Amino acid sequence: MALQITDLVKRYETGTEALRGVSLEIEAGEFFGLLGPNGAGKSTLIHCTTGLAQPTSGVVHVFGHDAIEHYAEARLAVGLAPQELNLDWFLTLEETLDYHGGYFGMPKRDRKERVAELLEAFSLSAKKDDRTRTLSGGMKRRLILARALMHRPRLLILDEPTAGVDVELRLELWRYVERINAEGTTILLTTHYLEEAERLCDRIAFINDGQIVAQGTSPELAAEYGVASLEDAYLELVGRNELSRARIGDVAP
Ligand code: ADP
Repeated sequence: MALQITDLVKRYETGTEALRGVSLEIEAGEFFGLLGPNGAGKSTLIHCTTGLAQPTSGVVHVFGHDAIEHYAEARLAVGLAPQELNLDWFLTLEETLDYHGGYFGMPKRDRKERVAELLEAFSLSAKKDDRTRTLSGGMKRRLILARALMHRPRLLILDEPTAGVDVELRLELWRYVERINAEGTTILLTTHYLEEAERLCDRIAFINDGQIVAQGTSPELAAEYGVASLEDAYLELVGRNELSRARIGDVAP
């Protein structure tokens, strides 16, 4: 099991209960999608998985390692590609990857090989000595993916990897993450793009108001809500089924 979350509760000091008893299992090798409206608890779930937030109660295991009790082992197993482009703009691409590897305790020679391998895989080799701030948007996204993979995590978390990117770059990023998954890396993806989840994910969970309300394949979710598509199932979830394409014909002119 890549990720096993059991009865996870997270109450912030403000009193907000962001997660209200979440249980979730992701098998090794799966491409898993987590969908839900803003404020549903997606980031909190990711933060509890990567040790950035302490659960109020419940357990998170990453490849068998307790995310709190055995933080170091659990953290080593996870690569996180955050939504924001949180690169250090004064580092070169090579330094960006090398420092990340150092942070995760990789020996120098291994880092060197891994940096070269990733720069090649993400078509960034020619830019290795450039500073990150000089990169195009697409290259920055690719570098963030490469950085997340630097320490060879078995679980890659992609937090809205294509938010605000153009169509070409979205397609390009899909190709990369499909390949990473095909090569054996388990992936947890959060996205607001339903077609993205549909194309990439083996299974999808809907999270709403701190609870997992449904999960399954895209057809299973549609069937569960008695609708024709993942998009319609999502609209049922958020209570906006009047927006369904299947209902457009119903709308009075
Ligand atoms: P999502 O990622 O699905 O948009 P979040 O996990 O960011 O959802 O937020 C879930 C709930 O927890 C929201 O009500 C949000 O306002 C609240 N929340 C998130 N982070 C914090 C925090 N650090 N302190 C207090 N409340 C928070």
